[in-house]
Amino acid sequence: MAKDKKQKNVYLFGNKKAEGNTTMKNLLGGKGANLAEMNLIGVPVPPGFTITTEVCTAYNEKGKEYAIDLIKDEVEAGVKSIEDIMGTKFGDRENPCLVSVRSGARASMPGMMDTVLNLGLNDTAVEGIAKKSGNERFAWDSYRRFVQMYGDVVMGMKPESKEDIDPFEEIIEKIKEEKGVKDDNDLTVADLKDMVVRFKSAVKDQTGQDFPEDPWEQLWGSIMAVFDSWMNDRAILYRKLENIPAEWGTAVNVQAMVYGNMGSNSATGVAFSRDAATGENIFNGEYLIDAQGEDVVAGIRTPQEITIEGSKRWAVLANVTEEERAAKYPSLEETMPEIYKELNEIQKNLELHYKDMQDMEFTIQDGKLWMLQTRNGKRTGGAMVKIAMDMLKEGMLTEKEALLRVEPNKLDELLHPVFDKKAIGNANVVIKGLPASPGASTGQVVFFADECDKYENSILVRIETSPEDLEGMNIANGILTARGGMTSHAAVVARGMGKCCVSGAGSAKIDYKTRTLVADGKEFKEGDWISLNGSTGEVYEGKIDTIDPELSGYFGELMTLADKHSVMLVRTNADTPHDSKVARDFGAQGIGLCRTEHMFFEEDKIRAMREMILADDEAGRREALDKLLPLQRTDFEGIFGAMHDLPVTVRLLDPPLHEFVPHEEENQAEMAKEMGISVEAIKQKVEDLHEFNPMLGHRGCRLGNTYPEITEMQARAIIEACLNLKEKGITTKPEIMVPLTGTKAEMKMQEKIVRTTVEKVFEERNDSIDYMVGTMIEVPRAALTADEMAESAEFFSFGTNDLTQMTFGYSRDDAGKFLPIYLDKGLLDNDPFQALDQTGVGSLMKIAVEKGRKTRPNIKIGICGEHGGEPSSVEFCNTLGFNYVSCSPFRVPIARLAAAQANIKQATWDKDKAVDQLKDSTKNVGDVLGVEFTELEKEARKAAKVAHKETEKEIKRLQSEAKEVLKKLKKELKNFKK
Ligand code: ADP
Ligand code: MG
Ligand code: MG
Repeated sequence: MAKDKKQKNVYLFGNKKAEGNTTMKNLLGGKGANLAEMNLIGVPVPPGFTITTEVCTAYNEKGKEYAIDLIKDEVEAGVKSIEDIMGTKFGDRENPCLVSVRSGARASMPGMMDTVLNLGLNDTAVEGIAKKSGNERFAWDSYRRFVQMYGDVVMGMKPESKEDIDPFEEIIEKIKEEKGVKDDNDLTVADLKDMVVRFKSAVKDQTGQDFPEDPWEQLWGSIMAVFDSWMNDRAILYRKLENIPAEWGTAVNVQAMVYGNMGSNSATGVAFSRDAATGENIFNGEYLIDAQGEDVVAGIRTPQEITIEGSKRWAVLANVTEEERAAKYPSLEETMPEIYKELNEIQKNLELHYKDMQDMEFTIQDGKLWMLQTRNGKRTGGAMVKIAMDMLKEGMLTEKEALLRVEPNKLDELLHPVFDKKAIGNANVVIKGLPASPGASTGQVVFFADECDKYENSILVRIETSPEDLEGMNIANGILTARGGMTSHAAVVARGMGKCCVSGAGSAKIDYKTRTLVADGKEFKEGDWISLNGSTGEVYEGKIDTIDPELSGYFGELMTLADKHSVMLVRTNADTPHDSKVARDFGAQGIGLCRTEHMFFEEDKIRAMREMILADDEAGRREALDKLLPLQRTDFEGIFGAMHDLPVTVRLLDPPLHEFVPHEEENQAEMAKEMGISVEAIKQKVEDLHEFNPMLGHRGCRLGNTYPEITEMQARAIIEACLNLKEKGITTKPEIMVPLTGTKAEMKMQEKIVRTTVEKVFEERNDSIDYMVGTMIEVPRAALTADEMAESAEFFSFGTNDLTQMTFGYSRDDAGKFLPIYLDKGLLDNDPFQALDQTGVGSLMKIAVEKGRKTRPNIKIGICGEHGGEPSSVEFCNTLGFNYVSCSPFRVPIARLAAAQANIKQATWDKDKAVDQLKDSTKNVGDVLGVEFTELEKEARKAAKVAHKETEKEIKRLQSEAKEVLKKLKKELKNFKK
């Protein structure tokens, strides 16, 4: 044998023994690993074997011949093992062994790849099966199913598109029509025989090939087809959506058949240990008598419920009387009470064993129950939280396990209103747009932002929105636009507000003059009710009641638990008192970024702001700034008031000034009048402010250092606001943040301006408060010289949007042109503006943290870029020991959970590291002493066990103990040498 000696490619299972287990998902796929595990814990599973995912990879790289050669012996041994357990023989005419060939990747990809059942049947074996079972109908039913599946999956008969009908289904329909029967089960044996003949000739017609009679040819054909299915379009698309790498490959499971289609004492079904929609702890599922495989989900007949309770609930919803239910659709609990009892025991055991909700497949063959699959079930966000918290209370999970069980991003589903289930029942969708901002809303149509307050519940309907619509958008329950995509103004603003929005509903005709919206031929006038689902993009006619998110209950418990297990705090990015309040309700522990420029866009402020920008000299600027001061101070009072007792980081003016100046003729004229200069002069000014690369131009601290009076005004506004609140007994914790610093001198100058101004205010008011001055770290140079920056900065806040932009040299605003292509071509694994690039940007952050702490050991460190609410980035910040992350209000709960998970994971990691160190040091001592290393290692292992009993303190104690031992040993060593 020339084959490389000798990787194991095939793992056997059966008869409550198995070579694999549930931890081997990477190698055996989820299905294979769990089939093995079920054997190990004594669940009845038909015997079989699993071909590893590595073989799939080899197949994809080196081709079919190579793959077959690699596994031939092992597959033959696997079939032999099935034969031995089942007492059947593959290819035998009297007593044939039939198998299924099933795919199974690491991550579940439901329905993405193909399965072949009843493999091993041919024109002689079918007679053997008929004779042995004494059930001719069953034999031929299995055979026709096999020919269809094999024809579809292996011989490529399955139509490409969903619209085209499967050639086999066409034949079935024809035969049923000819015989005048409705149900498959009403076909006679003769009909089924006829069907097989017609199937086979269809195969010959379409492929030019004979249907293979040789079971081994059938088996190899199917195994290769499963490998091929890993690369089919459906699977590729699914992997893309779910971020599953193509290299993983699929495993192949070959398993003895059990039959749910042997008559009224046989059945097949699916079951869940808890309700996947609500999380309710109730066993549920569906089954069909005398059926096989996917019949339950295929919708051929109406499936029946497993439990009596489920059955009764179903009857109510389906408008079926109890009498009819009991007669026509009885539950498994009623039809096969003994089997039901066994199934119920098994589902309880499986859930307990896997410590998670299970999604199971089973088949009953002539009164015997077989389990065919179990996996952790998919569930809704609500069910996810409820199940984790219930399992915690039931003692099945520890607090940490319960927290790790919840997927942070999926919490988003729970943070927005949803439609009342009853109310949505017969609602009518009139149009569909993009799901721009999640949640549900209902209200009366208005077409102008300043009329949103006309009704108590309004939906703002616009062709598109612009910054002037902000206030109305804030008042409206929801926003619908005809134009614009997922990143349109309406979409971005709505997401920030956490407001439901459907954008880009292209077929909506909106007429501002007549104040009408026409959708799907229906006309809506101002005041008519419509409802939006921002999670799906659907627009309904009429009023549909919504239910507010339930933030107490299970969700609240989860959040409390998260805070208990995290070290990092979660702050929010908020620019208004309203946002601050929302975030506070979500559990924000302060504001990590308050962008002052957002305050300048309102009507009265923008004029003073423009005056300041357009002024010729410092005196002119100061005059305008004097007008701005009281306005800013009032804004700050609002925000600091809403965030009382908690820290608020205010960023000094950051964006390039040209963003504020009037570009339209009309506004320029207005400014000219206001300032008493000519329109020409204004135009000239605007021209002068033009920059080639505004994001790298006159912005950030460069503004405050060239025009110190701006920084002075802002520092004064902040501190005066805080002192005013102090008089009212409200505590504030201001942190003044300088943006975009790159050199120590830049930071020093800003610090000086701020501190001098603040001291002046303190003196004037004869009062003072605690405050801090710090900087954003968003220019690579600042990160690299963080030790110098920390001389003036009392805190760092990583502005990872700009930092990513400057580290990659990608303009975020222009990245839309190439990033999608880069992701597609695999040049980037992730969009670095969404998930922090830990390798590159992360290195800069690491350097900055280390250097910053060298100068100022207790320097406060946080992140305020959009990454602050993205779980993998939050985890990274935790490893760097950040004090907090800051994110938009609606991501606060997600970040809280992510922070807890990060800390739990890190604690385990730290512990492992400590144990390794401990082992290393014992080994060193052992080497020196010449003492048997294993003895010392045993001690280390003992210590390791204790260490695993959690708490970091214990590790420290162990470490110091180890040091003691070391000391002693060293002493002994000395004596020894003497
Ligand atoms: P999927 O991954 O799409 O669920 P499966 O491999 O689980 O595909 O198989 C499809 C159907 O065939 C399931 O209902 C399963 O229970 C059934 N099935 C698979 N193998 C066997 C077998 N050996 N005996 C009886 N039914 C089987
Ligand atoms: Mg399955
Ligand atoms: Mg920035």
